[in-house]
Amino acid sequence: MIDREVVPGKTLHHIAGEWIGSATGREYENRSPWTGEVFSWAAAGDADDARRAIEAAHSAFPGWAATSPGVRQRVFLRAADILERRAGEIRSALAAETGSGAHFADVQINFATTLLRQAAHLGYEPVGQVIPSDVAGTRAVAVRRPVGVVAAIAPWNASLILSGRSLVAPLALGNTVVLKPSEESPFTGGTLWSEILDEAGLPPGALNVVTHAPGEAGLIGDEMLSNPWVRRINFTGSTATGRRLAEKAGRHLKRVVLQLSGQNPLIVLADADLDYAVEAAAYGAFVHQGQVCLCARRIFLERSIAAEFTTRFAAKVESLPTGDPRIPGTVIGPVINKWALALIERRVEEAVRLGAKLITGGTANPPCYPPTVLVDVPDDAEIAQAETFGPVVILETVESAEQAIHRANDSDFGLAAGIFTRDTYRGQELAAQLETGIVHVNDQPVNDEPQMPFGGMKDSGWGRFGIGVAAEDFSEIQWVTSRHEPRAFPF
Ligand code: ADP
Repeated sequence: MIDREVVPGKTLHHIAGEWIGSATGREYENRSPWTGEVFSWAAAGDADDARRAIEAAHSAFPGWAATSPGVRQRVFLRAADILERRAGEIRSALAAETGSGAHFADVQINFATTLLRQAAHLGYEPVGQVIPSDVAGTRAVAVRRPVGVVAAIAPWNASLILSGRSLVAPLALGNTVVLKPSEESPFTGGTLWSEILDEAGLPPGALNVVTHAPGEAGLIGDEMLSNPWVRRINFTGSTATGRRLAEKAGRHLKRVVLQLSGQNPLIVLADADLDYAVEAAAYGAFVHQGQVCLCARRIFLERSIAAEFTTRFAAKVESLPTGDPRIPGTVIGPVINKWALALIERRVEEAVRLGAKLITGGTANPPCYPPTVLVDVPDDAEIAQAETFGPVVILETVESAEQAIHRANDSDFGLAAGIFTRDTYRGQELAAQLETGIVHVNDQPVNDEPQMPFGGMKDSGWGRFGIGVAAEDFSEIQWVTSRHEPRAFPF
């Protein structure tokens, strides 16, 4: 049962510091994936609401950009404390709104508090360089300035982290933000951030959140893309949506950071510590029931260890507790909604029809899908090609490390990878051959820390999230020269 005391019954837009319904008065019901109960009635916003939010962010920009680094720092440090104080309540909300189990909720809360504390110092980072000029008497500098309004579009799966990283660093760099959370997580991926930053002292309008009904994201997204006050967009979600967004952004010459789908490989070489690789692979494939963009989707096994790995892995996978995400021991909770569940079912069935074999799992138990392991999956099966957001992983035997790298790279995607070998040096050499934005040697792909440059290659996206690199995308460099005395011109 949802704890009504800790769960908001309504999720309103947060615009210019006010909590308001949508301009049309429409709402939609956001249901809990496990209980099926209404978690909240959320504002069903459209382009008008987005415009108001962008106007609010635009108005708040000069004031927030001019706020001293020390004042900004205190806002983020206070926000981290507030988030920690509310951790129990947020854990419950993540379970109720998104089906997140206790472990993954803690991962999110820890990331979000660390993110806020790291971002707190961004205002004190040096903002420029003095560049020597060949023009005598000219002093030249390059200065980083905030860009203005940043629009952020985030998904539901790691709602607290993925919305948090979309707005915290941009704000810390002096920008203002309009956030559009997923229709599946308007609270934990949306207005919760407003509540926390509001209480921490962020001025009204610096962060605005607009929610929307299922199927209506484009109304808000299109306004964000076309509105001239929005100077940058960051997007985390599927490659299909990201591609459409990038096409439109091109028309408006608007820069976008895109963090998109993955089809992440995990390579187990013959000399790997097999017990460790099995534990790691089970975590990497099935954490948050496989609904993390970083999850291992394809595991390549060198032939000499393939049979042994498969036996031990199947035993481990079959032992994973499935069910209510509010029970602390649950590993495999519900899939986010019935459409996502149907897609997993369809893709597994298609793979089996095309010749794949099920090692374990493969039959839905709504709202859950059991952890499922497939072998002999033909390349033309959808599940071999497209990211499938659920607890399904493919095993494939390879003859060598080189073949594993070749197969791993034989994908449109390039987000994250893992390589298991006792020869760490060789692991690093192989990492350099992988076409992924992130590689872990002797670890599985589901890792993130706010200071790390996070992002993909190929169809997994452009740009990087990360405190250390945020200024590249969320500030503007201005070249400024000044002279004390007139210079001579040739005519
Ligand atoms: P996922 O399958 O992870 O939900 P999506 O790409 O569908 O991936 O969703 C990621 C985010 O993109 C969500 O916030 C969703 O509402 C948003 N989104 C979906 N369609 C559009 C669109 N046409 N314009 C802008 N945002 C969109």
